[in-house]
Amino acid sequence: MGTPCRVLFYARDVDEAERARRAAFAELAGVDERMSDYREQSEVSLLSRRSGSGPIPVSEPLFRVLWAAERFSELSGGAFDVTVGPVVELWRKARREARLPDPQELREALERTGWRKLVLDPSARTARLERPGMRLDLGGIAKGYACDRALEALARLGIRRAMVDTGGGMALGDPPPGRAGWRIQVADRSENVLILAGCGVATSGDWERYVEIDGVRYSHIVDPSTGLGLTSRILVTVVAPDGMSADALSTALSVLGPERGLRLAEDLPGVEAWMRWRENGAVRSAETSGFAARLER
Ligand code: AMP
Ligand code: MG
Repeated sequence: MGTPCRVLFYARDVDEAERARRAAFAELAGVDERMSDYREQSEVSLLSRRSGSGPIPVSEPLFRVLWAAERFSELSGGAFDVTVGPVVELWRKARREARLPDPQELREALERTGWRKLVLDPSARTARLERPGMRLDLGGIAKGYACDRALEALARLGIRRAMVDTGGGMALGDPPPGRAGWRIQVADRSENVLILAGCGVATSGDWERYVEIDGVRYSHIVDPSTGLGLTSRILVTVVAPDGMSADALSTALSVLGPERGLRLAEDLPGVEAWMRWRENGAVRSAETSGFAARLER
């Protein structure tokens, strides 16, 4: 996943803690092996390589993530889109070469992008990528999913006072003893401290990974409608019922921006969001109506 992972929990003794630690990290490693597009032999890479052919049987975990991704694409009007792989690839190259992607190449990559070109069949548990040269990128959702899986692995061992952090995405179980929740500082650049339990939280934005070209900062998050990296200097924190939803929504809301993004968050049960962005040289922030109630008092 290219990110440090952290698992915190309360166990009765050292042996139990050691077993739990192993179980949690085995889950995280399993998700990474299956879902990383940096690994040529991962299930998701194999699926991408077979784009343009018929439906391909998919493992239960990968199907679950693709199914959720489709729902968030639909909810966000396509702002969240795990088929952005070809476009993201061009931006990775842009970052290496410090040069904007070639417009013709970008247009061509966009033709191999689009969430409706990923066709899922839940009864057969298959996925089909309709065009050759499509490429899935689960970087906006798999970290949150991995957190959920690691938390489940701990729960199976009877450990419920736990939290899993994959850098940007987290899943939280029951709170530490005597506390109302885990105390979460959402990002370096934010003064928000949240008290959370039994949910997921994620932070996204164009402040951590980006390329600067001719004085403009382009984020690693791309707008699937234009193929361009975000330039809005947005920072988004989302609280959601689980880690995967928080992860996907934080990416989606970064693309949607304050107005459409906060409206979507407001409509979804169990979801709160906070945003900060730049507008005409000024820094602005806004949040959903229930966000403040999650803050430490
Ligand atoms: P996050 O840090 O969770 O916001 O995820 C960002 C990562 O998601 C990027 O590094 C890409 O791998 C991928 N990504 C970029 N743009 C999008 C998008 N519009 N929808 C879904 N995933 C994206
Ligand atoms: Mg995300």
